[in-house]
Amino acid sequence: VAHTAERSRAVDIRIAGVTKNFAGSAALHDVNLEVRPGELLALLGPSGSGKTTLLRIIAGLAEADRGQVFFGGVDATSLPVQKRQVGFVFQHYALFKHMSVADNIAYGLQVRERANRPSKAEIRRRTLELLDLVQLPGYESRFPAQLSGGQRQRVALARALAVEPRVLLLDEPFGALDAKVRKDLRAWLRDIHERTGKTTVFVTHDQDEALELADRVAVLNRGHLEQVGSPDDVQDHPATPFAMTFLGQAARFNADIRDGRVLVNGKPTPVVAPKATIGQASLYCRPWHLKPVLAGHGHHQGIISGVRRLGSMRRIEVLQADGTKLEVEAPLVTNLSVGEEIGLDILDGVIFREG
Ligand code: ATP
Repeated sequence: VAHTAERSRAVDIRIAGVTKNFAGSAALHDVNLEVRPGELLALLGPSGSGKTTLLRIIAGLAEADRGQVFFGGVDATSLPVQKRQVGFVFQHYALFKHMSVADNIAYGLQVRERANRPSKAEIRRRTLELLDLVQLPGYESRFPAQLSGGQRQRVALARALAVEPRVLLLDEPFGALDAKVRKDLRAWLRDIHERTGKTTVFVTHDQDEALELADRVAVLNRGHLEQVGSPDDVQDHPATPFAMTFLGQAARFNADIRDGRVLVNGKPTPVVAPKATIGQASLYCRPWHLKPVLAGHGHHQGIISGVRRLGSMRRIEVLQADGTKLEVEAPLVTNLSVGEEIGLDILDGVIFREG
């Protein structure tokens, strides 16, 4: 349960018309985004899409060419990083190697001017409290070299929280860790977030991480914000073909829309056509929008090129006539083998008009 007092102090972040160019090419193009008070927002995009640049502009580590950043409604655009009261954790967060865990966590408080510095006892109390919060009680005297990667990132988070930042900015904090540790840390971060109620922006290029962790996901593509929405929203109602394909497996079909019906290879599908759409369009299908049927039947044909298990379902990889592959979900009991011909029924999908 969140500390109500903390939550009520959470601020919102508003990014208004932020543009940033590097040597003439736009890293960010007119980005408008609101992070709600106490929300955990994931900035998701492929490498080079501008995630880190945007995070650095929020932090005050980089300057936008145009646009503004507001914290709690107050313009922070020209505030230097020290005055923004932000805490951050990066992928390769360099803890001070020669300092104990406790000294690392306390660092931000120790370097404060005397007037703002808590007493030694208070710093000690807060440090131990944070170690409890990040589930490393008893680790205060260890040195970074005596910690695992995941433990180091937890100390880095404790250090970021020590100065009681107004917002928390995390840039691929688990990026360097192995898959199992990453997954554990996701649940852990979610839990910490619920307890502290801090407004948090989390940068990742990992769709699963964003979808599992975030209250809302902001999808960046080549410096453009393509969509902002809840994990369900962005998955089930992607705003653009990019969002559709980046957020998960998606197969694309040429569709023909006539009399409100969506046809693929001349056969009607149950897909609902957007109002007033006629003519050619693209239909994107998730693996569960497709159903394997007998060869020669269904909307589309292919050859099975792979079968694997994915949790309680099978994933079937299908090679299409044009040489590209798509994925289909099927029940575990399905008996299909590589090399067989297969038909696909289209059950659902998302229509886009592409230029
Ligand atoms: P990654 O996931 O690989 O870290 P990213 O989404 O965080 O990528 P950014 O680091 O924000 O992307 O970079 C966005 C674009 O701006 C890229 O094309 C990058 O090459 C360019 N860029 C970033 N920083 C600089 C810089 N200091 N000088 C020149 N170009 C830069």
